[in-house]
Amino acid sequence: MQQEVIIVGGGMVGLSLALMLAKSNIAVKLLEAIQYPNYDDANLAPYHSSFDARNSALSRRSVQIYQELGLWDALQEHAVPILEVHITEQGSFGKARLQAEQEKVESFGQVIENAWLGRVLLTQVRAEPLIELIDGVKVTSLNQDADLAYLEAQRGSEVLKLQSKLVIAADGRDSFCRKALGIGVDEHDYDQVAIVTTVQTSKPHNHVGFERFSPLGPLALLPLPGEYRRSVVWPVKKGTEHEWVGEDNDQHFLNALQQTYGDRAGKFQKTGRRFSFPLSQVLAEKQAVGRVVLMGNAAHTIHPVAGQGFNLCMRDAYVLVRYLKEQLAQQADLGDAAMLQDYEKSRLTDQQRVIKFCDSVVRGFSNQNPVLKLLRNTGLIAFDTIPGIKPLVANYAMGLKA
Ligand SMILES: Cc1cc2nc3c(=O)[nH]c(=O)nc-3n(C[C@H](O)[C@H](O)[C@H](O)COP(=O)(O)OP(=O)(O)OC[C@H]3O[C@@H](n4cnc5c(N)ncnc54)[C@H](O)[C@@H]3O)c2cc1C
Repeated sequence: MQQEVIIVGGGMVGLSLALMLAKSNIAVKLLEAIQYPNYDDANLAPYHSSFDARNSALSRRSVQIYQELGLWDALQEHAVPILEVHITEQGSFGKARLQAEQEKVESFGQVIENAWLGRVLLTQVRAEPLIELIDGVKVTSLNQDADLAYLEAQRGSEVLKLQSKLVIAADGRDSFCRKALGIGVDEHDYDQVAIVTTVQTSKPHNHVGFERFSPLGPLALLPLPGEYRRSVVWPVKKGTEHEWVGEDNDQHFLNALQQTYGDRAGKFQKTGRRFSFPLSQVLAEKQAVGRVVLMGNAAHTIHPVAGQGFNLCMRDAYVLVRYLKEQLAQQADLGDAAMLQDYEKSRLTDQQRVIKFCDSVVRGFSNQNPVLKLLRNTGLIAFDTIPGIKPLVANYAMGLKA
C-alpha cells in the first residue's frame, strides 16, 4: 500500500513541499486551517495569512526548485529579476554595490508577489492527483506511538481522525504541532514590526534592490513587476506602527520614505495600504521528534532583513524530500525517526549560518553608537573594494552555497 504523508499547514512552505513530494511520487494529505478561496475571477487580492500583501525575494536556488517543479513559467508572470543591489546607511558615506553582470550571474534572484505565488501553488495543488487538500480544518490534537502518528482536526463541530507514518508540521511561527510535541523554542523579540506595502516612484527601478539602514529601521526597497512599482519592507520600533499604517497617513509615510531614501528612486508618488508584521526570531529546540518533523516557520522564524526566511525553508523542504525519496526507493518507513534525525542534522549548518547572518545584520545596524557606525561605514567600503568578497556574499545571498 502507498504510504501517505500528512502536512499540517498550507502556507507557502506547506503547499510548495506538497508539490515537491507529489513530484517524487509520494502521496500527501494537506490540512489547512483557512478556507482557501476559489479563483473563478481575475482577482489577485490578498487572501491568506501566508499569501498576503507581501512580496518575496526568491533566491536563485528557490527559482531553480520551482523550475524543477515546472511552475516557473506561471510564477514569472508576476516576478522581476534583481540585477543590482545597493546597501547604504543613512547619514554615512559607505556604500556596497553588487551587480549581477559583474558576478557573472543572470540575476540575484526574483521578487514575486505573494498573492500570485499563492494562487499558482494552490491551483497546482488542486490539480495534483497525489495531493488531497483538506482546507478549513484546524488540527487540534497530535500524538504518536512506535508505528504511527495520530491527528485530530476540527471543522466546525465535525472532528476528523487521521493517522500517518509521517507528519510534517508546517503550521507557522506559533505552531500547534510544535507545542503538542512539547518542543521548546528559543525566542527573541526584536521589538520591531515590519511595515509592508507597495509604492510607485517617478524613476524606474531598473531592477535595482536597495537596503538602507536608517535610524527608524533597515528599509528594503525591491523592484516589482511594472517599471515604477517597488515593494517596501520597513521594520520600525514596535508601538510606532500606528504612525505609518492607516489611510490618513499616506502622505506622512511617503514623506518619511523620501527623507530616508533621498532622490535615488525619484519622487515617492503613491503608496498602497500598509500592513504590519511583528518581528521575532523563534527557533525550535528540536526539529524532529519520532515521526513528526517541523518545517518552515514552525522550525525557524527569522527576521526578514535579508529576505532569507522562505528561501531557507525551500532548501530544507528540498532536502527532506530527497531523504524521503530514498526511503521510498527502499520501501522503508517514511516516518523513520533515525532518518528524520539525519535530515535535521544535515540542515543545521545552513540554517545556523542564515540565522546568525540575519540576526547579526539586525543587531549590528540597530546600534547608533558612533564607533559602531564608523565600523559599519568601513565595512561597507571594504565590501565595495576588497576583491573576492562580493562573489562570496552574492552566492550566499542567492542561496546557492547551501
Ligand atoms: C515582512 C516579511 C517579509 C518577508 N520577506 C521574505 C523574502 O523576501 N524572502 C524570503 O525568503 N522570506 C521572506 N519572509 C519570510 C517568509 O514570509 C516565511 O518564511 C514564510 O511565510 C513561512 O511560511 P510557512 O508556510 O512556514 O508559515 P505560514 O505562512 O505562517 O503558514 C502556516 C500555515 O499553517 C496554517 N495553520 C496554522 N495552524 C494550523 C492548524 N492547527 N491546523 C491547520 N493549519 C494550521 C496557517 O493557517 C497557515 O496557512 C518575510 C517575512 C516577513 C514577516
